[in-house]
Amino acid sequence: MTVRVLYVCSEVFPLLKTGGLADVSAGLPPALAAQGADVRLLLPAFPSVVAGVVPEGASLLVPPRDTLGLPPGLGPRSGTVHGPTPWLQQGRIEATGQPVLLLHAPGLYDRPGNPYHDASGKPWADSAEQFAWLGWAAALMGTGLDSTWLPDVVHGHDWHTGLAFAYLDRLAAAGRRRPATVFTVHNLAYQGVFDAGVRERLGLPDPLFRVQGLEFHGHISFMKAGLHFADAITTVSPTYAREITGPEQGCGLDGVLRERRHRLRGILNGVDDAVWDPANDALVRPGYSADDLTGKSAAKARLQKHMGLKPRAEALLFCVVSRLTEQKGLHLLPGVVDELVRRGGQLAVLGAGDTQIEHALQHAAQRHPGDVAVHIGYDEALAHSLIAGSDVILVPSRFEPCGLTQLYGLRYGTLPLVRAVGGLVDTVTDSSLEHLDDGSASGFVFHDLTEADLLSALRRAFALRRREADWRAVQRHAMTLRFDWARAATDYLQVYAQARSDATGTASA
Ligand code: ADP
Repeated sequence: MTVRVLYVCSEVFPLLKTGGLADVSAGLPPALAAQGADVRLLLPAFPSVVAGVVPEGASLLVPPRDTLGLPPGLGPRSGTVHGPTPWLQQGRIEATGQPVLLLHAPGLYDRPGNPYHDASGKPWADSAEQFAWLGWAAALMGTGLDSTWLPDVVHGHDWHTGLAFAYLDRLAAAGRRRPATVFTVHNLAYQGVFDAGVRERLGLPDPLFRVQGLEFHGHISFMKAGLHFADAITTVSPTYAREITGPEQGCGLDGVLRERRHRLRGILNGVDDAVWDPANDALVRPGYSADDLTGKSAAKARLQKHMGLKPRAEALLFCVVSRLTEQKGLHLLPGVVDELVRRGGQLAVLGAGDTQIEHALQHAAQRHPGDVAVHIGYDEALAHSLIAGSDVILVPSRFEPCGLTQLYGLRYGTLPLVRAVGGLVDTVTDSSLEHLDDGSASGFVFHDLTEADLLSALRRAFALRRREADWRAVQRHAMTLRFDWARAATDYLQVYAQARSDATGTASA
């Protein structure tokens, strides 16, 4: 029987993307649909999202609590929204045909800039309300707002959707239909923690505000709401699933996660072939494959030219395509650049983030003109050029829930050099002698978050490059590895089935 899934998220590629979450929202739903699921996305009507959606069918008003006859204190009050009642617009993403519901809430989403923060990088002052409404709309859809499409599963992603699960719990306690619920953590470090004072405005009644609920050190935590109330929790790699149950990576929520360990599962993300395939990448022409790397050499020459690097075919070209943050371990990079260049390497960086890291890398580029190039900003086409044209992609993360760029690197024969953490452990195998010997090597892995350890991995990359046959063998193996969405979708369908059987009678008092 077809499972109906309401897939709730805050961004989707190519309409709105600030990170891997958007790639997942683009890749997973069609893979679920290909295996028979009926999936609808629900996301806020941010301007670029509205622009990419063709409206279809009737709109649905998102009523305030009273119209549902809910207990007092439940549901965002209509007064919190600067304008008329929010509503859901049904439609399809123009580029893909994916069915979506866009949540319009006048004053909350229809403004320029980043969805999460203002031009100065501070979270929007009404961030809690933005995503409380998303949760509320999801909860109402889950309980039958659209009587023609009742979801079996509400599947929310990251803290932006966490309140859906708390609202659903209250709605079930009030006797409403309760769908099965699944909450996926893409990054535990971003939690949506707000002053407890907002809870009345958000319609969060007292029974929810406790340790066995969404209270977090006297504040409310959207992330914790998801972790506590969902029937099933998933995260984006098996290793990260283990890591977040410990204090080091648990971001203060490891206790909740340990308690709910039996409901937690790690499912690796996939690569969207329609976007990331070196043989058919519209942004990389001519394409190439493991059997014929001519196109990769051409991509390298083009990239060197484009970035102002010396046209040296023999230079080992390292790249970074990333948010430039400490999470990504990129504070280590400036300290190893001189040695990287001294050994004959080149470095091309695309990213934006911490100004300190940006400046240190720009400074390195000034020290090494023609050998180090840095492009500060976000550029989808350039990301493809870097990943196709480089020899090695650097992902030295402090923590990494899954990581997508190392997967793209593998696919494009651009060997990932990664730290042994989270999804990086699950997807990259070090080119140690034993792994070269048994054919499983696919990149370079280091352990300590130190310049010294990063440098020793860089040296291993140079050493392997001098052994042409070994390099080719590793590259070929990397390119044949498949992390596809079909496999992940099968796992998610199992999680949905389990959640549905667990879902009955789970509302708390
Ligand atoms: P995270 O979601 O933590 O930022 P991921 O590796 O999961 O990291 O996903 C990052 C995604 O964002 C990848 O698709 C990557 O190609 C893309 N990306 C990151 N920085 C840039 C940039 N500056 N320009 C273009 N794409 C970028």
